[in-house]
Amino acid sequence: MSRKTRITFGLGALFTWLSFQPGGDPYAGSRKQMVDEQIRARGIDHAPTLEAMERVPRHRFVPADQQRFAYADRPLPIGYGQTISQPYIVAYMTQIIDPKPHYKVLEIGTGSGYQAAILAEIVDKVYTIEIVPELGRSASRLLNELYDNVSVKIADGYHGWEEAGPFDAIVVTAAAGTIPPPLIEQLKEGGKMIIPVGSPYLTQQLMLVEKRSRRYTTRSLMPVRFVPFRRSE
Ligand code: SAH
Repeated sequence: MSRKTRITFGLGALFTWLSFQPGGDPYAGSRKQMVDEQIRARGIDHAPTLEAMERVPRHRFVPADQQRFAYADRPLPIGYGQTISQPYIVAYMTQIIDPKPHYKVLEIGTGSGYQAAILAEIVDKVYTIEIVPELGRSASRLLNELYDNVSVKIADGYHGWEEAGPFDAIVVTAAAGTIPPPLIEQLKEGGKMIIPVGSPYLTQQLMLVEKRSRRYTTRSLMPVRFVPFRRSE
């Protein structure tokens, strides 16, 4: 074996060994780069959001054939015509609701479970609803393996989760034509909801809804593209 081959072999073995150590993660470097270049560099400065994005193993939330793109600056297909949102959008939606450790948060559109995992790192309790049973089941399996503060329900999220509410914040990750009234109803006084509103398949507006004195105000934040908010028949 030449010296160069020996060194190359040695380094390879070292990296393999490192990645199989408890807590070792071959994607840790990509994840740090994602946070620095896609999230911090674009103005997200909410420390708990940045820390959560650096901890959650996004590659475990995408199908095996997408894992090598897990930390890329874009959404990825997760099957059943659905997508996991772009990392920046997940960070933006998390920061904007200003999640606090004591919060109870409702998410509509579990999908891969990634946004729910980011929230679970920060807040006390996450409730998340998915309409596609297969996605709900696999996200539930992974979320229960990693966290003990997430509940997943397979249902039409239009109706929210009344028994678990009211919520400090609601995050909707599918584009609705209008804001579902039950969701406003289940928001606490002073609570915030972030929701993409507009025509499915076109660009929508990401809206921030705030509930005060039983009324609500809305503010358009930026144009986005989300998969449609579906209704069960
Ligand atoms: N938050 C997800 C993004 C998934 S895309 C993630 O981090 O991966 C949006 C998801 O919303 C899809 O999985 C879609 O099936 C789901 N969805 C659409 N309409 C819904 C509804 N009415 N109730 C619950 N989930 C819905």
